[in-house]
Amino acid sequence: MSNPHQLTVNNAFNLAVTAKQFISISSLKDIPKLHHLQADEFLVLGSATNLILDEYFDGTLIQVLMDDIVLETDGILSVGAGLHWHDLIDHTLAHDLYGIENLTLIPGLVGASPVQNIGAYGVEVSSVIHSVTCYNFVTKKIETLSNEACNFSYRDSIFKSKDYLILRVQFKFHQLFEPNLSYPSLAQFLKEHQLDHDTISPRVLSESIQAIRESKLPAPDKIPNVGSIFKNPIVETESIPADFLADHRWLMPDGQTKLSAARLVELVLDSVEVPPSLGFYEKHSLVLINKGGAVFSEITKLLKEIQQQVLSLHGVQLRVEPEIIGS
Ligand SMILES: Cc1cc2nc3c(=O)[nH]c(=O)nc-3n(C[C@H](O)[C@H](O)[C@H](O)COP(=O)(O)OP(=O)(O)OC[C@H]3O[C@@H](n4cnc5c(N)ncnc54)[C@H](O)[C@@H]3O)c2cc1C
Repeated sequence: MSNPHQLTVNNAFNLAVTAKQFISISSLKDIPKLHHLQADEFLVLGSATNLILDEYFDGTLIQVLMDDIVLETDGILSVGAGLHWHDLIDHTLAHDLYGIENLTLIPGLVGASPVQNIGAYGVEVSSVIHSVTCYNFVTKKIETLSNEACNFSYRDSIFKSKDYLILRVQFKFHQLFEPNLSYPSLAQFLKEHQLDHDTISPRVLSESIQAIRESKLPAPDKIPNVGSIFKNPIVETESIPADFLADHRWLMPDGQTKLSAARLVELVLDSVEVPPSLGFYEKHSLVLINKGGAVFSEITKLLKEIQQQVLSLHGVQLRVEPEIIGS
């Protein structure tokens, strides 16, 4: 445990944050350090690219440092929760393992990837997760949950319950490269670059995703941000007028409609007051950025105002995507 008075917490929004205590899990031998935690406030931390933290966390922050990659006999790849997601992408490209090219450049650690079932460009990580090994804070035991037991859905899983510390993720990657190229902005990019299903390689697909993302998303180490600040709302198609958000809505396979949260934010921005320390990235109106010196209370106030405006003017409830950890 480190000195409680000196702990600063690095975070992608670059807020000044400190915490009372910190526990690192470097191997399973460290698990007993967690047994006393039940009554205390605690938070599992990855690399804080999907968290907005208040300035002081009056509890224990837990981080998994294990970052090894083990190929098991049945072809399953077992990966330590502390590995950076982009290192796993590199590993799969180098070892002819397919299925996560579309998730290139999502920031964060492997251990956080099942939590909100990270997804991008038509692919979700749950499509290649075999099982997840975790410490259960309630039973105080290590358990391995099958893919089905993880209850994955859009940006959601059982791990949002906070009852688990993910230690390892077991992946079952595809042996055959069957790219998913249907996502509109990806299809457009590939057309412009004369690439198609027959000519594209896994590495070129990964590089294409990287190019698309870099053209519209700021890197948190250069411009502090936590990615999309609101989830795209999914509504019953009959509940909205046929011409509502034309070109900014997508019919889902289950018949519901996904609305562009970016467009909804654009529609109300003139009616809310954005403090000078905050702004929306010029190339993507869903990415809130810290222009310097932003504080927690300003962020939560602004997000509430936007939600209220979208609800009262357009009848749609926006939900914040990153987790807000208040004191
Ligand atoms: C520029 C940018 C682009 C992004 N693009 C995407 C995108 O395209 N798609 C997408 O899905 N997300 C995206 N995100 C969000 C973010 O990258 C993911 O949610 C990522 O998985 C967070 O990883 P992290 O290690 O930073 O987790 P953190 O932000 O530290 O934690 C996120 C949540 O996971 C929990 N958690 C973390 N590690 C563990 C663990 N080992 N066990 C249990 N719980 C844990 C935390 O308690 C917290 O609830 C983006 C973020 C940024 C900044």
